[in-house]
Amino acid sequence: MPRVYDSRKRIVVTGGAGFIGSHLTDRLLAQGHEVICVDNLFTGTKRNIDHLHAHPRFEFIRHDVTFPLYVEADEIYNLACPASPVHYQHDPVQTLKTSVHGAINVLGLAKRLRCKVLQASTSEVYGDPIQHPQAEEYWGNVNPIGPRSCYDEGKRCAETLFFDYHRQHGLEVKVARIFNTYGPRVHHADGRVVSNLIVQALRGEPLTIYGDGSQTRSFCYVDDLVEGLIRLMESEPDVTGPINLGNPGEFTILSLAEKVLAQTGSRSRLERRPLPADDPRQRKPDIARAKALLGWEPKVMLDDGLALTVGSLRERLTEMALLA
Ligand code: NAD
Ligand code: UDP
Ligand code: UDP
Repeated sequence: MPRVYDSRKRIVVTGGAGFIGSHLTDRLLAQGHEVICVDNLFTGTKRNIDHLHAHPRFEFIRHDVTFPLYVEADEIYNLACPASPVHYQHDPVQTLKTSVHGAINVLGLAKRLRCKVLQASTSEVYGDPIQHPQAEEYWGNVNPIGPRSCYDEGKRCAETLFFDYHRQHGLEVKVARIFNTYGPRVHHADGRVVSNLIVQALRGEPLTIYGDGSQTRSFCYVDDLVEGLIRLMESEPDVTGPINLGNPGEFTILSLAEKVLAQTGSRSRLERRPLPADDPRQRKPDIARAKALLGWEPKVMLDDGLALTVGSLRERLTEMALLA
């Protein structure tokens, strides 16, 4: 008989009621751990964790990470931060506070507990990248004063804080640079490209293409990403990252729209909209480091992941009576 109590940990997941955080929470509970989900429900919803309220090893704390947090735990995953440009630009100052003050509080907590702490960083630290694909050694091309800066610079500063706490206080840190991630439970009004296009296709509305649609992104299915985050947390202490986690398959936004139309059987037309300021032209992770250090690479192909995401959003829109 496996003795689950020997390896059971109490794990804090900030942003645990969000899209990625709720999938991570499910996986950690399935592994036998206790999870304390800390979330202010800014972009996350109780719906993402509704199925967990009766779970004996799950606890929810409604809390804003810009304020200090005193709990006892063995590990911390710091995911709290709005991730969609529409959401993070809604209140840019709060976005910066969430990344910077949130990181300070989470690091202070980890320092007091002497526990491991993982930061959900982002491919946005590379900005509008000149190096392609992006490897971790690349320092990026980020506008410090544009509309995306509250997110990009906030996440860059959080990385700095993680490495300074590591060097100055000997804290065991793990920094994951997450590339565009999608999958079931992504909010139907999230505003990011995968959910926008699927919702529009299902509702028979025009698919909004910003710019000429030739810009590229790499889309990682959420289960693959969660596997990468857990492997990083469980890696040897000298594996601090930063480490890219993403799917190296690279697609133009136009080709994504074509896939969405094919998957949904929709006859929606494409509608051009202005390209937002500072929108990166291209993005594709170099995942050699994740392969070598974590033995990790994504397994789910975009077509398969899209089918699962379409199914989940169709169900959600039907429940909300938003389908014609
Ligand atoms: P999400 O918006 O669904 O989840 C973020 C969660 O953080 C939400 O539940 C929200 O309520 C919570 N939150 C926001 N501000 C908070 C605060 N001040 N205090 C407490 N909770 C707060 O987004 P997601 O896609 O699940 O992203 C999770 C993390 O992964 C974020 O840190 C994001 O920057 C990072 N990330 C995501 C992607 C992606 O493509 N999804 C890519 C790169 C990085
Ligand atoms: N902090 C927290 N929980 C803890 C310990 C610290 O939220 O269990 C916060 C605390 O409010 C502080 C921040 O983390 O502002 C940074 O802590 P650190 O010990 O690094 O700094 P100091 O307290 O010395 O300013
Ligand atoms: N995009 C688009 N239509 C939409 C939403 C986004 O063409 O309805 C484009 C956007 O301009 C960007 C890409 O899709 O080039 C990815 O945008 P998203 O907001 O999903 O993520 P990010 O820009 O942060 O990678």
